[in-house]
Amino acid sequence: MKKKTHKTSSDLKAVEAVKPESPGTGSPALQQSHEGDKIKARYSNPAYFRENVEQYLTNILHTDLKTADTSQLYKAISQVINKELGEMRLEYNKERKSVQLSTDKTKKIYYICMEFLMGQSLKNNLYNLGQTETVKGLLKELNIEPEALYDEEPDAGLGNGGLGRLAACFMDALTTQGYDATGYSLCYEYGLFRQKIVDGWQVEFPDNWLPGGRVWLNPREDDTFTVSFYGEYHEYWEDGKLKYSLQHPQTVEAVPYDIFITGSETTAVNKLRLWSARNSASFDMNAFNNGDFTNAARNTNSAEMITKVLYPADNIPEGKELRLKQQYFMVSASCQNIVRDQLHLYGTLDNFHKKTAIHINDTHPALVIPELMRIFMDDYDMGWDKAWHIVSNTVSYTNHTVLAEALEKWNTALVQSMMPRIYSIIQEIDRRFRIEAFRKFPGDTGKTDYMSILGDQQVRMANLSVIGSHKVNGVSQLHSQILKDDVFHDYYLADPDKFTNVTNGIAFRRWLCQSNPALASLIDECIGSEYRLDSSQLEKFAAFRSDKYVLDKVDKIKRDNKVRLSNYINRTMGFAPDPDSVFIVQAKRMHEYKRQLLNALRIISRYQMILENPGVDMRPETYIFGAKAAPTYYHAKFIILLLNKLAQEINNNPAVSDKLKVVFLENYSVSTAEKLMPAADVSEQISLAGKEASGTGNMKMMINGAITIGTLDGANVEIRQAVGPENIFIFGQTAEEVYRNLRSGYNSRAVYERDPVLKQAVDRLEIGFSGTEFSNIKDYLLNPTYSIADPYMCLMDFKDYCRAHDDLSAAYEDRDRWNFMSVVNTAYAERFSADRSIKDYAEKIWHSQPVLK
Ligand SMILES: *Cc1c(COP(=O)(O)O)cnc(C)c1O
Repeated sequence: MKKKTHKTSSDLKAVEAVKPESPGTGSPALQQSHEGDKIKARYSNPAYFRENVEQYLTNILHTDLKTADTSQLYKAISQVINKELGEMRLEYNKERKSVQLSTDKTKKIYYICMEFLMGQSLKNNLYNLGQTETVKGLLKELNIEPEALYDEEPDAGLGNGGLGRLAACFMDALTTQGYDATGYSLCYEYGLFRQKIVDGWQVEFPDNWLPGGRVWLNPREDDTFTVSFYGEYHEYWEDGKLKYSLQHPQTVEAVPYDIFITGSETTAVNKLRLWSARNSASFDMNAFNNGDFTNAARNTNSAEMITKVLYPADNIPEGKELRLKQQYFMVSASCQNIVRDQLHLYGTLDNFHKKTAIHINDTHPALVIPELMRIFMDDYDMGWDKAWHIVSNTVSYTNHTVLAEALEKWNTALVQSMMPRIYSIIQEIDRRFRIEAFRKFPGDTGKTDYMSILGDQQVRMANLSVIGSHKVNGVSQLHSQILKDDVFHDYYLADPDKFTNVTNGIAFRRWLCQSNPALASLIDECIGSEYRLDSSQLEKFAAFRSDKYVLDKVDKIKRDNKVRLSNYINRTMGFAPDPDSVFIVQAKRMHEYKRQLLNALRIISRYQMILENPGVDMRPETYIFGAKAAPTYYHAKFIILLLNKLAQEINNNPAVSDKLKVVFLENYSVSTAEKLMPAADVSEQISLAGKEASGTGNMKMMINGAITIGTLDGANVEIRQAVGPENIFIFGQTAEEVYRNLRSGYNSRAVYERDPVLKQAVDRLEIGFSGTEFSNIKDYLLNPTYSIADPYMCLMDFKDYCRAHDDLSAAYEDRDRWNFMSVVNTAYAERFSADRSIKDYAEKIWHSQPVLK
């Protein structure tokens, strides 16, 4: 060991405070702490809480309870909660460390992800702490609606969509269940862009979340780390050892900002640590001293650019240098921090993999593998074999996509110049892997080349992730199977035990209890409230699927939620959809594979049908979309234009507008999703089979009682297993059929020619809507100007999609049957809890138990 570390006195106290468990006795978890409960009790006292709020208002904002506006009250109340969490965290720190030192059954779990789509925090924290009523009491006196206060908070939109939201739900689940966990990410100054629709076209505006979001950020300037980039790198031999030197690297300081993470009914407080980039002392002093202020200042700018903005590309390639810099910046700061904490607690790295689990969410943090190798070997003198053993038994990896274009690859020259030492380590990992692979597949150089990390002048991040991890998982049964059969097939043959599945889940507290309190109360009334913490209990609600009282209640709750959403749409867009129409919702990122275009084509055919049959007897339909497109994803932006122009024409055509409405909700985000999900009758999950890894929007709508119309893709497959085929509307090709049809040469034009309804809808694109024509989209569907016409097979699945919608419309008219289906869907959403996902990860992958009961 080169670096010597000392246990701090509080660590030593912690050791003494705990009697080691006798081996073999079940869970090592401590009971919830009395100290944490005392803190909660203190803040739950209305007088104490009020006093703290008043103090903040007077001392910091120079106002008082009577004169403060809603925004100031939001700040004051949030600050008081943050202070309470800080006090609880201090107690929790002592407890978790003492448990960690006393047993080998628990590990510290680090969840590393470029994105955490947290949304708003105040309402969630109050719910988790059980202090909603305390605050409601105070607000009542001041005549302020709680929702108005909550909506003062900007979303922390530090993510693009499903991936980042999953990470956020997982932090909630980890904490609720008492795991010792830390999340690592970047403190983007600007989160995912704010979307405005201007004459139908998406326009992006900066998301300036920090003024309002800062209340939850706890700066820790004292805990800063330094990250090095570039520099002149040389390797040489000395005393029979390969040494290296790195001169004149650019260094950047990583300053942590911690967000406290609450769980429900627990005294555990974990944290999400966000790194912010700051120019370091090595800020070009030479240039500065020589009077070259401009150049010195330029350097400063470039350091701080690293955490300036979240990349808004979701599942599309983004090969930008700054993006790679963000990745290494996050990885290096996090790894240094993790190693430092391990040494503080244990004084050794020998047990690192026994006490630490590092999870990389997608390949974006894959550089943890070479970075940990670097730290172990260069800073702590560890040999390669031992370092590799520890690293590869510590790291695990979740794959999130099978889209070939979304599998990350970086140009080797870029990696080599930006992080020469890391590149050299990757080369050595690659060299050793090739030898091993060649032994497994003798003579098969093709296979070895294909599986290795370096090739075609690229670093293949997915291969690095698989090679450096002890477990790899997909996020639904189908997706994990495709990883084994296809994407990672050769690795699977070489090491089948490495591959496993953990189906995604969502935070029930946020997506059911908080966003749909009426439905949650009804469930409480039927089966008690245990399901809030033990998701498997929710299944019991299925027993009420034929109970007329419950069905009528479910019907009324849905209608009330639809009225609420309709009012929101009226406030923001100036028209109110009819709450007695069917609310058909497709809300997710805009992407070809998700096939919003298929939905649009069917809406066009509905429009044409009504124009031809003006007197048709039908229940009115409201199609609601929410979707952001990556700013550089031109095709996706055109689909947004199509939806908006279609909406404009249909909503303003009196011949159809009482039967058909199309709503494009601007700026789809976590807080709009919370308003939308409880009001959905129908959940559109219509991706081309084999392309959606899991989906979580499907789970959010399911638990809120919406019925799914979908393909056999991602977690839809498991939704069908859960509710039975009679309580979901499945259509279209299976993943295998897609594969076969593509291989035998898919001809979209033939499909178009033989279906007159489809042909008429596609042809209408040429005329367009509200004065905008879309012949480019017709071209995309029919002409192989792209690699293949209609690459996501919208035309192929159109007819069966229409058939499924017809079945669904008929089912909707039998209100008892529909509400029966709704109850079944809510009840069997039981298995899609993030709590269940986290238990699976802990058992199958991290091999860790909670530190608190
Ligand atoms: C849940 C969620 C998503 C993911 O939706 P999918 O339908 O699974 O793609 C995306 N964005 C937001 C804001 C979400 O809350």
